[in-house]
Amino acid sequence: MTFGLWWWRRPDLLPPPLRDERPLIVIDAGHGGVDGGTQGFGVLEKDIALSTAVRTARELRQRGLRATLTRTTDIAITLEDRARMVNNLGAAALVSVHFNFTTASSLVRGVETFISDPKELSAQRAVANQLGVPSDDPAVGAASTALADAIRTAVCTQARTADRGTRNRPDLAVTRRTHCPAVLVECAYLSNPDDAARAATPAWQASLAQGITNGLMQWSHSLPFAPTGHRIPAR
Ligand SMILES: [Zn+2]
Repeated sequence: MTFGLWWWRRPDLLPPPLRDERPLIVIDAGHGGVDGGTQGFGVLEKDIALSTAVRTARELRQRGLRATLTRTTDIAITLEDRARMVNNLGAAALVSVHFNFTTASSLVRGVETFISDPKELSAQRAVANQLGVPSDDPAVGAASTALADAIRTAVCTQARTADRGTRNRPDLAVTRRTHCPAVLVECAYLSNPDDAARAATPAWQASLAQGITNGLMQWSHSLPFAPTGHRIPAR
């Protein structure tokens, strides 16, 4: 009996694998390699950014979303290369994971989100032009704000931390150069002893990952983006 094995020599006759049409979420672990980011109380930003980002991507996949990471190991990647990666993948959203530091006061703590909204571009025109801004689409800016608010609120609920709001930073390369809604999350302050201590624990990183995922899911349900598209249609 050999007729059943025809496909073994003719793989071109097999049905094509199903294309994954689900929107792709890119999780970016800030810093890496020679760039350690900030540090406080013995906690190094690049390390906990990576472990939190990896947990977030895993959480997203477990909940049925498609997710990938800009880095999975301790390597340096330029901000331009991170943004290029996101654009080339046609991502639906980018979440960049960071941890904060301030010399102002060790009492400052909590989560903060940053976006780059081109609606404030006129004031930042000079800076933006220097960065070679690819997109002035106001719908992407509005969607980034909605995503930032959803993530921040969900992280505050899940990880029980202080809400420090969303800020517009048109000069932030990783969020400004991406064509899709993009948010940078400063999860906690490594200059605050309590924030730094719990940021280093797997349990709290898991809470952050769950919070970011909750925010992303809530946001994705509220927006009509095309399954494969990387742009929010103007409304
Ligand atoms: Zn950082």
